[in-house]
Formats: sequence, structure tokens, C-alpha cells
Amino acid sequence: MSEAAAPGKDGVLRTDVVIIGAGPVGLFAAFEAGVVGLSCHIVDALEQVGGQCIELYPDKPIFDIPAIPVCTARQLIDRLTEQCKPFAPPIHLGHRVMQLERVESTQRWRVSTDGGLVFDTASVLLSAGNGAFVPQRVGLPEAQTLEGRHVHYAVRKRAMFADQRVVVAGGGDSALDWALALRGQAKHVTLVHRRNAFRAADATVQELKRAVADGQIDLVIGALATLNAPHDVLRSIEVKTLEASVTIEADHLIALYGLVADLGPIAQWGLDVRAGRVAVDTSYYETSLPGVFAVGDIAIYPNKQKLILSGFHEASLALRKAYAYAFPDKKRVHVHSSYDAGLSERILGTPAAQESAHS
Ligand SMILES: Cc1cc2nc3c(=O)[nH]c(=O)nc-3n(C[C@H](O)[C@H](O)[C@H](O)COP(=O)(O)OP(=O)(O)OC[C@H]3O[C@@H](n4cnc5c(N)ncnc54)[C@H](O)[C@@H]3O)c2cc1C
Repeated sequence: MSEAAAPGKDGVLRTDVVIIGAGPVGLFAAFEAGVVGLSCHIVDALEQVGGQCIELYPDKPIFDIPAIPVCTARQLIDRLTEQCKPFAPPIHLGHRVMQLERVESTQRWRVSTDGGLVFDTASVLLSAGNGAFVPQRVGLPEAQTLEGRHVHYAVRKRAMFADQRVVVAGGGDSALDWALALRGQAKHVTLVHRRNAFRAADATVQELKRAVADGQIDLVIGALATLNAPHDVLRSIEVKTLEASVTIEADHLIALYGLVADLGPIAQWGLDVRAGRVAVDTSYYETSLPGVFAVGDIAIYPNKQKLILSGFHEASLALRKAYAYAFPDKKRVHVHSSYDAGLSERILGTPAAQESAHS
């Protein structure tokens, strides 16, 4: 490995590979980067690793991972995280990669995130699935200017809702959990949901019903219609119910409608994008840009299967070519992992078995 994890004096992080996306494929890629002898940084827009496995089906069993007859998606992500630990890849969560620029003078890539991180890297491995998971936003034009002050898509600082009139919108676990959590702290909590049925754990739904019956939370079944915000200060929210229009006095709207995947900035990077996915050459899963690889669900090629297994294979091959971009003057000799002294010491703390290396 060539470079350190800390930024240089210019604030730029130098590395061999930037892995965009910490889903199952990105995590395995971080391990493979270590095996191949490359330093890497992983970046994900979400606050936790795991991609679709954690966001969409954490407790669903998976049956088609080699040598693991059955595990839940969460267990798989835990194991992948454990597997890459010996290489301690820096993982930057809550950062969406926005820009990818070629630096012609160095033949390297500059990668920038919305959180201000800048990387200088020999290669980029896109394991970005269907794009970044972003919150589904309120479809009212006035919501955009109020975002961050009066309209929120996550609860980051709970204290900001103390003694405030809060409307929570949504019918899933997050919406119900936050409506319940804020009831003692906020001045008033109203939960607005389209239907009188919820997509949340039974116990949470029962607790909500009790809170509504006890008058701790108001429940309004209907759709958000207007945000009344004179001078850009939220005062009230109109909700269309089946029978009429209801006005709810409110200082804050917390909309928790779930996450949607959005390719977003990746579509602007000059890649060959087809139907929302990135076309690759299957020799090394390299895109139309030299040193930029696409693996996992984001990659498209004939007969591509959107499976975790396929992504593992693609990442493994891509990183072998990435080595040539990081070390153009070196030839990498293939050694089976059991006979790789460096790998054995990192993982087991002991030297490798004394067998001949395969090359
Ligand atoms: C319900 C369901 C069940 C499934 N069951 C199975 C199964 O049993 N077996 C199987 O093999 N497969 C299964 N799959 C498919 C499997 O989940 C995917 O193939 C796998 O998640 C792809 O992994 P990935 O790492 O490529 O992408 P993802 O898991 O989608 O992760 C991509 C990550 O990239 C991040 N990202 C994207 N753009 C950016 C950006 N610009 N900046 C920063 N971060 C970004 C995203 O936030 C996300 O975390 C299932 C899928 C679903 C929906």
C-alpha cells in the first residue's frame, strides 16, 4: 500500500482507490484492495454501511452466498465489515460523492464529496448500487426553501424540536418512532399519514394507538396540501383529508417517507450510462473512463445478474487492474491467499505457510 489515511497539508486525501458505496460489494472491495496491496477509502452517502442489505432487508435470510448456507442481510454486512478490518480502510459515512474530475497532469482522479472531502486517487471503484439513497422529499414547491429550517428529512438535533409544534409525516417505523419519541419534548405532535394503516412494527403501532387515545399525539389521516410560511417561516400546514381540509399549526415538519435511490451526480461524470447503470468492459469491469471501474448493481454488461455474488467477482478483477494504475512500474505476482506472508500476518498475526508461491 502506498499512501496514508490522513490528509496532506493541502487537505487532500491521497490513496490508491476510492470506493464509492459501502454496500456489500464496496465492503468486499475494501478487503480485496488490501489483499491486492492497495490503500483505499470508502465513501457512502448513508450514515451506516450495508447499502440495500441494511436499508431494504436487514432481517431477510440470504441463501446464495458461497460457503454461508444461510445468514440474514445484517449478518452478512457484519461479516464483511469484520473481514476488511485487518486493513482498517477509512470509511466516510454521510458523504455523497458529487464530483469526479480527471487531473491530466498526473493521470489521476480527483473525487469530491458534499461534505468537503477531496481525494486524489489512482483509481475509482464505483460500487454505488442504484445510486445514493436519499430521503423521499415533500412534493410541494414551498418545501424546498424551508428545508433545513422548518422542513426536515431526519432528526439530527432532537433539542431543536423542544417546545415546538411538530408535524411528523409518514407511516413507517421512522415516522412512528419519532412521533412517539418527541411527544414529551415537543409542545405538540401531530402525525399525518395518508392511510389509517402503518408499515411499522406491531408494538410501535400499538404504542402509537395508545398515545393517540391518551391525547399525547394527534393523528390526521390525509395528504399534505400546503405549507403556510409567510416570510419563509412555517406557521401552519394544510392537510387534505377525505372529508375536508384541516389546518394544523406547526413550526416544523419532519417528513419521513423513506429513502429512494438516485444516481444523481454520477450521471454527469461522462460515463457511458445506460438505463441508469454504468456500462463496463467485462475484462476488468472498467468503464469508458480509464481507471474508473463499476461493480455490483451499478454495472451493466450482457447477462449481468444483480446479485451480491456477481459484485464480489467483479470487484476482485477490477482491483487487479487498479493495481496497474497505482503502480504502473510494478508487476503484481499472484499468490494464493494462504501463502501470502503479508496477508497471513495481518489476519492471523503469524507468517504464511511455507509453500511455493503460485505466480
Ligand atoms: C428485497 C431484496 C432482496 C435481495 N435478496 C438478495 C439475495 O438473496 N441474494 C443476492 O445476492 N442479492 C439479493 N438482492 C440484491 C442485492 O441486495 C444487491 O445485488 C446488492 O445490494 C448490490 O450491492 P452493491 O454494493 O452493488 O450496491 P448497494 O447495496 O445498492 O449499495 C450501494 C451504496 O452506494 C451508496 N452510494 C450511491 N451513490 C453514492 C454517491 N454518489 N456517494 C456516496 N455513496 C453513494 C449508496 O448509499 C449505497 O449504500 C436483493 C435485493 C433486494 C432489493
